[in-house]
Amino acid sequence: MNKVLVLGELNGNDLDNGVFELLSLLNNLNVSNEEITVGILGDNLQAKDAILKQIPCSKIVAHSNIDTNNLNPNILSKLASSIVEDLKPNKILISKTNLGQDLAPRLAFKFDWGLVNDCLDIEKNENNDWTGIRPIFGGNFISKINIKTSTEIYCVRPKVFDSLTDKTISPEIEYIQFTDDLETKTKVLERINEQSEGLRLEDADIVIAGGRGLGGPEPFDTLDEIAELLNAAVGASRAVCDAGWMDHSYQIGLTGKDISPNLYLTVAISGASQHMAGCSNSKHIVSIDKNVEANIFNDAEFGAIGDWKN
Ligand SMILES: Cc1cc2nc3c(=O)[nH]c(=O)nc-3n(C[C@H](O)[C@H](O)[C@H](O)COP(=O)(O)OP(=O)(O)OC[C@H]3O[C@@H](n4cnc5c(N)ncnc54)[C@H](O)[C@@H]3O)c2cc1C
Repeated sequence: MNKVLVLGELNGNDLDNGVFELLSLLNNLNVSNEEITVGILGDNLQAKDAILKQIPCSKIVAHSNIDTNNLNPNILSKLASSIVEDLKPNKILISKTNLGQDLAPRLAFKFDWGLVNDCLDIEKNENNDWTGIRPIFGGNFISKINIKTSTEIYCVRPKVFDSLTDKTISPEIEYIQFTDDLETKTKVLERINEQSEGLRLEDADIVIAGGRGLGGPEPFDTLDEIAELLNAAVGASRAVCDAGWMDHSYQIGLTGKDISPNLYLTVAISGASQHMAGCSNSKHIVSIDKNVEANIFNDAEFGAIGDWKN
């Protein structure tokens, strides 16, 4: 029997959707509810019972009355370590959010356990051994990784799995005290949301992105209008961000954001491998480009070949 810990985060009153997606992945792997504990990291969790109760699992552990100093990664790492030491899981799943991709390697280093980062799926064989599947070399290859340490950590890319919404399960919540020192060498002074307008790229169901072929920043106003009509988020290629037409927070790709929307619309993006590394997990790609040979058409399900202005 497995002892699986799913770590999730509550930012203010926003429960990150990653927990629901990880539970869905575990459901696909036929892991039973008895094997799963969800550990939630956040501020003053005892007052947020109603939010935690929405998680479709049978057991939650959370620290009561903690001030995480704006989700300071050093503090979250201490809290997560204490849950791990109590529970002694043999598998840990974390969603690859900004906080998750910071936390997973810290735990792996601290406990000397193996980690599959940017995991897109997990396979299980008849011996109940798990294999993490992740993209490598800018998304050009897929690697299958077996972890050989006593506890395995999987940091799973968001939005690859649908959320689990089982209304029949209601969790029992265990609040635990953190008795050690929460002093850290760093202090988070302020958190600023980089994209205050519109949907977050990582959360959007539809993303429309523009590339260098748009010729300047002005056409992004048109993309904004289309995005508003479609309830979509706007993204860009690195060429666009490097040119200063859009802020780097809009960049999709290897050195930008990973997105996994249902529909990814690209306009005048050539589809370089470094760009595709951040979007190849989109369910449907539809592209406009004037070059019939553009790499983007290798991944696009539908393409319109021609000048985007038409
Ligand atoms: C280490 C490294 C990391 C990188 N990370 C990233 C990353 O995270 N994200 C990223 O995007 N890139 C990244 N890049 C850059 C990447 O290699 C490409 O240079 C970049 O993606 C190209 O952007 P683009 O498609 O907008 O521009 P281009 O490659 O110049 O493509 C423009 C496209 O527009 C089309 N076009 C031109 N005019 C029109 C028109 N009027 N109508 C229709 N189509 C038109 C052209 O046919 C062409 O296909 C990285 C590169 C390196 C080396």
